[in-house]
Amino acid sequence: MKLHWKILIGMVLGVLFGFLMNQLGQKEFVSDWIKPFGTIFINVLKMIAMPLILASIITGLADLKDFSKISKMGGKTITYYLSTTAIAVTIGLVLANIVNPGSFINEEARATLLETFSGDATIKIEAAKAAKETTPLQPLVDMVPDNLFSAMINNGSMLQVIFFAILFGIALILIPEEKSRGVTSFFSGLNDVVLKIIDIIMFTAPLGVFALLAALIVEIPDASLLSGLVVYALTVTAGLLIMLFLFYPTLLIVFAKIKPKRFFKAMMPAQLLAFSTSSSAATLPVTMERATEHLGVDEDVSSFVLPLGATINMDGTALYQAVAAIFIAQVMNIDLTITQQLMIIVTATLASIGSAAVPGAGMVMLVIVLAQAGIPEAGLALIFAIDRPLDMLRTVINVSSDATAAAIVASSEGLLKDPGELDPNAEKIRS
Ligand code: ASP
Repeated sequence: MKLHWKILIGMVLGVLFGFLMNQLGQKEFVSDWIKPFGTIFINVLKMIAMPLILASIITGLADLKDFSKISKMGGKTITYYLSTTAIAVTIGLVLANIVNPGSFINEEARATLLETFSGDATIKIEAAKAAKETTPLQPLVDMVPDNLFSAMINNGSMLQVIFFAILFGIALILIPEEKSRGVTSFFSGLNDVVLKIIDIIMFTAPLGVFALLAALIVEIPDASLLSGLVVYALTVTAGLLIMLFLFYPTLLIVFAKIKPKRFFKAMMPAQLLAFSTSSSAATLPVTMERATEHLGVDEDVSSFVLPLGATINMDGTALYQAVAAIFIAQVMNIDLTITQQLMIIVTATLASIGSAAVPGAGMVMLVIVLAQAGIPEAGLALIFAIDRPLDMLRTVINVSSDATAAAIVASSEGLLKDPGELDPNAEKIRS
């Protein structure tokens, strides 16, 4: 059976099991005995992300051997990332203005939501404080580690490790080959080992997603709180689905000559994992493995484009931030001018870049978007109840956008393999 079917079955069984346990009043059993397996699964994926970034970027750059190729690829990647994110925000803004989801919340629902989730909102607002108080160039400063090893022990500093790996890879190209050979071959071997570890981890994926979804279901908040948020949730979902099924497929057909079916077939396991884990960073190892071995993106491209994308390219998050900001403004009876809405395109694009690739991070950075637009941050409480499912979906979009970028950049560099050139046993090795 194909991997994505196994994962899907794990997900469905997890949801059913969660509901069953809810009915039987066994929430604690799930939290105590099932959830830990989900946590272990996410941890092991995160554990491998740092070594993967280091080994794959260095190997990829060393393989390219050409500095001008690297800078051309970098330029294309950043252009793609910025423009698709800005387009995502625009789609979100247009949808939120057409649907007007705020008008579906009555006074009573508003008061209940604000009261119930004000504590949770405060925690997010506090978390955003540090980001809010920085100077404009601080994100740039934060990209450069002052100590490589302390960067490597912190999953939050992936961008710093990427910075080091790129520098290291470039330096490796610049020194004579007889000196670089040993280092290159070490990292290339390390890269293969890491990829094999990912294969082993993926073997346990169906069990991992089962545990994650079962745990999520028993933690769903009171359904009565969710009813007023349905239209808002549907607006975000509609925007995300437009990106997934219309926007990226069009880009793939036009710029990479890849049929959507091929893309989804290759990337589905990564998309399902993104949905189950709500974390682009935890999904990164699988995104890389699928893009390389199944979509046909040459490792020289995927090793550079995907880690960068997982940390800075978040179209789904940006779209969600736009809809959420407008929704909160509508419920709080704040009229946003066209200029304020256009400013949201800029702030949501930047906020999504600054969002960490972990569950719920998009909501923390939403605080910045709200603050810039003059919308009360306490309004965050309004969207709390429904945030997790939307986080799951926007993470799928974030990961899909990264994979689309990898395919487009690879195609433009002549580094996209035909399906016939792929290893037909790639999946078999796993089972
Ligand atoms: N969970 C998202 C991701 O990892 C970020 C967010 O929107 O919260 O891509």
